[in-house]
Amino acid sequence: MPECIFCAIGGHRSPAEIVYEDDETVAFMDIVPVAEGHCLVVPKAHARNVFDIALESAATTMRAAVRVAQAVKKATRADGMNVWQSSEEVAGQTVFHFHIHVVPRKNGDGGIRFAGRHRADPAALRAVA
Ligand code: 5GP
Ligand code: ZN
Repeated sequence: MPECIFCAIGGHRSPAEIVYEDDETVAFMDIVPVAEGHCLVVPKAHARNVFDIALESAATTMRAAVRVAQAVKKATRADGMNVWQSSEEVAGQTVFHFHIHVVPRKNGDGGIRFAGRHRADPAALRAVA
């Protein structure tokens, strides 16, 4: 079975544009962003989603998400931020390793659109990171 992609990124076995890291958490650019600056904040310890994550790990990940959101706001000059987590397919989860989305929002950005988004150019992603 192939390794979980977010476990691989957290263990530096798979590449990602990492914007924050500590012993328990890693945050990196979403490869198919819904907005410029879209990041994912991920515990290094594997959990599927909100239904099996240890409370301590969830708290640690949320603490990191708040720090990342504040940094992303500064970096992208965002007016606001969506911070969300999806659990199970019916809720839109596609990667089954717990992660928190951090998505900067700007006045007049027209809203978040999932349809038609595409894989970001790696150089553009690196520049934003
Ligand atoms: P979900 O739909 O599970 O809430 O979010 C999964 C997110 O992970 C999606 O926004 C998707 O673009 C992103 N993603 C999936 N695979 C990879 C990957 O290999 N690298 C990165 N950086 N992001 C990924
Ligand atoms: Zn995993």
